[in-house]
Amino acid sequence: MTKPTLGAMPSVSPSSRGLPPLHPFLPWAQRPHRRRFSHGQAAAITAVIASALTLSGCAESSPERSTDDRGDERPLVLTTFTILEDITAQVGGDRVDVETIAPAGAEIHEYDPTPSDLRTAAQADLILSNGLGLEAWYDRFLDQVEAENVTLTQHIDPLPVTSLPGHPEAGEDLPENPHAWMSPTVAQDYVTAAEEALSELSPEDAEYFAKNAAEYRAELQEIADDARERVEQLDSRAHLVTCEGAFSYLTEDLGLQEHYLWPVNAGTEGTPQQIEAQTQYVIDHEVPMIFCESTVNDAAQQQVAETADAELGEPLYVDSLTGPDGDAPTFLELLRYDIERILDGAEAGNPGTQETS
Ligand SMILES: [Zn+2]
Repeated sequence: MTKPTLGAMPSVSPSSRGLPPLHPFLPWAQRPHRRRFSHGQAAAITAVIASALTLSGCAESSPERSTDDRGDERPLVLTTFTILEDITAQVGGDRVDVETIAPAGAEIHEYDPTPSDLRTAAQADLILSNGLGLEAWYDRFLDQVEAENVTLTQHIDPLPVTSLPGHPEAGEDLPENPHAWMSPTVAQDYVTAAEEALSELSPEDAEYFAKNAAEYRAELQEIADDARERVEQLDSRAHLVTCEGAFSYLTEDLGLQEHYLWPVNAGTEGTPQQIEAQTQYVIDHEVPMIFCESTVNDAAQQQVAETADAELGEPLYVDSLTGPDGDAPTFLELLRYDIERILDGAEAGNPGTQETS
């Protein structure tokens, strides 16, 4: 039998997304990965596929070709939202194509996936999610998608949403707080998890991913060190007062006191009881500046600010990056921006640390 030449081959490769999984009934961990072919094996398999297509005369109209319409031969890694997209892209560099399901500015907790999201997911080699209940829609989404899923919080110690004595929701069982990326220390575990997932997907690039991940973790550590140094200069323990209780990991990391209007965005937001409890807290602790997040309505927090005579600071970014021209186009910039705003606000209540010039 004559071996088909490369020139005669359609654009089908052993990594084609159109190929059925080898063992569809095994969970991912036990399944030999589709991308783990050696170059020799890959060439042999490609030859068989090309030969089969030539024999059946369907090379031009193969449905396998139309499923991969991205024009990008790199593995497609889909992430649930922009924070994970950026973290993964920093680790993956130019070896993977990383995309996000929820776009910049979208609310992630109750995002509603579109048919186009499902079409993209059908082409994905890997989907990375946050887990810890962040993506309330995700299980339903995964039911319709074949790609492997890895949860990037697998290495962290989850914290519950901070319990607030006297808060309307205080008696309730508070859920795990999914916003672990908001701590520049804990975020380093996301980087490690992304590095592992990508190395599993593309083992030949493992060294490259490891180098990117190490550099990125070092940048996150620098943000954590700088922030802690600044917090140590404060006279008293600073208060971070926000809309969503999204800051448990950051406040634990930096030694701040947290208070919020509602525990998670997926619940009831801005009830009179929540507003009253928050207002009382701001008055009792003489908090000079309070905040709300970019993806939620800040009307309730405005009311708190007015009643308690506090200033409502610029929006903080938590559940989404901004577009390229916004305040938080990358995850590192999001952390730097938020920490800067939060500590500026805290210093306004600490006369000893205010600039004297
Ligand atoms: Zn959130």
